[in-house]
Amino acid sequence: MLKGKTAVITGSTSGIGLGIARAFAQAGANLMLNGFGDAALITRLGIELSAHDVKVRHHGADMTKPAEVTALIRETEAHFGAVDILVNNAGIQHVAPVDEFPEDKWSAVQNIILNSSFHATKAALPGMKTRGWGRIINLVSAHGLVASPFKSAYVAAKHGLIGLTKTTALEVAETGITCNAICPGYVRTPLVENQIEAQAAAHKLPREQVIRDIILAAQPTKRFVEIEEVAALALYLCGDAAKSITGASLAIDGGWTAR
Ligand code: NAD
Repeated sequence: MLKGKTAVITGSTSGIGLGIARAFAQAGANLMLNGFGDAALITRLGIELSAHDVKVRHHGADMTKPAEVTALIRETEAHFGAVDILVNNAGIQHVAPVDEFPEDKWSAVQNIILNSSFHATKAALPGMKTRGWGRIINLVSAHGLVASPFKSAYVAAKHGLIGLTKTTALEVAETGITCNAICPGYVRTPLVENQIEAQAAAHKLPREQVIRDIILAAQPTKRFVEIEEVAALALYLCGDAAKSITGASLAIDGGWTAR
């Protein structure tokens, strides 16, 4: 389905981004991976993914640095000839009350989630317009649609990313490019594992109780969304059947935002 296409996926050394990389490689896309991780991990991922008869590279751009984000796109174009699909996925979380929120953490969350998505989109769009085809997928969250206490930076960045998604979609609507937001509920990745640990320590509760009573309290299905479910939605958005889906915020959250 994606044979001959090239995808850049930010933050694809772990979690949801890696799941999307696996789904795209199976569908035949060449991949530019990005994200942190030691050399052994990155080599192992390259071997695993290229077994699907696709080309795979890794670029270590730090999403807090605009020049590196732009370089990620330019170097992908130089090496593979195009960026056909851009998945803005890299993200971090920090939990604190607004009036105690550390300013450096606020800035890091905005830079990695919102600002890097702007810089990558800006850099990738001219090539997509020239070719008359493109897919931009912004990995948002249920927290792009609703809020939770103590996550001001994350909720603000994710709401902002939905704004960028809608605006981009409108600007390129006649050019064969779509731009959409995927809004998952809780997915069990290292990002969420860290929150389980932190909540268990803060409330002095067993992990299973934290998962049931705190983490999944807002998720009516009472189970985590699976990485593969999110990856399948991303893959669907890349297909021809999804060419009229643009500017959408697609919840995949076990009913969380239906409340
Ligand atoms: P994760 O921690 O497993 O992976 C995050 C990835 O981002 C890693 O590859 C990491 O190296 C990379 N990254 C972090 N900081 C970076 C930086 N400065 N520069 C480059 N790469 C950087 O997290 P995840 O749960 O897979 O989250 C992926 C995305 O999905 C995030 O945007 C997150 O907000 C979103 N999301 C996650 C959940 C969930 O429950 N896990 C739910 C909704 C949305």
